[in-house]
Amino acid sequence: MNLLHVCCAPDLVSTVFKMEELRGSELFFYNPNIFPEDEFFRRYEAFEEVCESLSIACPEPTYCPEDFSKILSSYVDEKEGGIRCSKCIELRLRKTAEMAKSIGAESFSTTLLASPRKSIKHITLIGEMIANEIDIEFIPGNFRVDRGRLNTLIRDIYRQDYCGCQASLNEMKKEREIRDTRDRERLERDFGALVDLWKFRGKMVLRSEIPISDTSEMKKLIGIIKPATLCDDLEDAELKNRRWLKTGTYNCRILREKDQ
Ligand code: SF4
Repeated sequence: MNLLHVCCAPDLVSTVFKMEELRGSELFFYNPNIFPEDEFFRRYEAFEEVCESLSIACPEPTYCPEDFSKILSSYVDEKEGGIRCSKCIELRLRKTAEMAKSIGAESFSTTLLASPRKSIKHITLIGEMIANEIDIEFIPGNFRVDRGRLNTLIRDIYRQDYCGCQASLNEMKKEREIRDTRDRERLERDFGALVDLWKFRGKMVLRSEIPISDTSEMKKLIGIIKPATLCDDLEDAELKNRRWLKTGTYNCRILREKDQ
C-alpha cells in the first residue's frame, strides 16, 4: 500500500488523473503550514468533496500549526521557493514517510508533485533523501495534467490563490496590490470612458455590460479588468462554443445563461 500526502484538492485531482496507480493510496492531509486556520478548513473541505466524488476514504483533519511555527519564524523573510519552502516540504514529507512506516505502507508520495508552483526535481530530492533515511520507497513523477484539462476537472472546487503559509499570504497580497494598481492605470489610460467597469474585477460581468463590439479590443479590456467570469447574455458569435476567453495574460471563463 502507498500513503499519499495531499496538499490540496486540485493537486489531488491532478494526481489521480495522471497517476492511475495512485488511486488506491491511503491519503494523508498533513499541512501545518496553512494559515489561517479558516483557510486550513476551507482547503480540507474541498479535499473532502473530492474524496467523496472519487469514492476515496477521507481521513479526519488535524490542524497543528505549531509543527511549522519554528520554520516560519526562522525563514519568514525568504522568498517563495527558497529555504523556507525546502524545510516546509521536508517537514510534510518526513511526517508522511514516518506515518507510512507506522501503518505498514511500502511507499509514500505527495500531490505536491502536481503543483505547477513547485519544482518536481526539488521535491524528488527531498523525498528520496527521506526514503533512504527511513528505509521506505518514495514514488516520484510528474503528476501534473495540463491546465485546461485541470480547469475542466475541478470546475467548482475551491482553488487557493496563495501557497499556504502566512509569509506566502503576505507576498500574494503585496503582488495583488501591485497588479491592481498597474491594471487600474492601464484601464484609465486605454479605456478612460469605461473606468466604471473596474467594479467587475474578480466578479461576473455580462457581455451586454461591455459596450465594445471589436473582439480584440474586448479581449484587451477583459485582460485588464480580469472579471471572474464573462456571461455571454448576448450570444456573441465570436464567443460561441468557447469556454474560455484567452487574453494572452489572463483566461476568463465564459458562462452562458443556460449554465447558471
Ligand atoms: S510558500 Fe508554501 S511551500 Fe513555501 S513555506 Fe510557505 S507554505 Fe510552505
